[in-house]
Amino acid sequence: MKDCIFCKIASKEIPSSIVYEDDRIIAFKDIEPQAPVHILIVPKEHIKSANELDETNIELIDHIFLIIRKLAEDLGINEDGYRVVNNCGEYGGQSVSHIHFHLLGGRKFSWPPG
Ligand code: AMP
Ligand code: ZN
Repeated sequence: MKDCIFCKIASKEIPSSIVYEDDRIIAFKDIEPQAPVHILIVPKEHIKSANELDETNIELIDHIFLIIRKLAEDLGINEDGYRVVNNCGEYGGQSVSHIHFHLLGGRKFSWPPG
């Protein structure tokens, strides 16, 4: 999609620190990390937010969570634990309108979120 920063990262129009890529998804380091490990997992297909998911996306979401598990292992944060976040819409604090999952680790997180 034109003018979407994550579509441009997926097509390599904008550079990023890629940690994983396949035909369906790309994972790269967040430019403003909130933890020692902060990766964004992004489908290459432009889906605006979790509000737009439907049955046709089930395999994609399954795939994303399996890759998140694998990345957590590869990055050495699986044993201590980590957090996966999807911000949806204005109240959820979504700032980029292309669905993405934050993988955060390397420190202890508090709850509830702010
Ligand atoms: P959210 O607020 O959930 O929509 O998350 C968007 C995330 O994208 C933020 O954590 C930003 O720091 C991150 N971000 C924005 N632009 C870039 C970029 N060019 N490369 C990497 N991360 C980015
Ligand atoms: Zn997009």
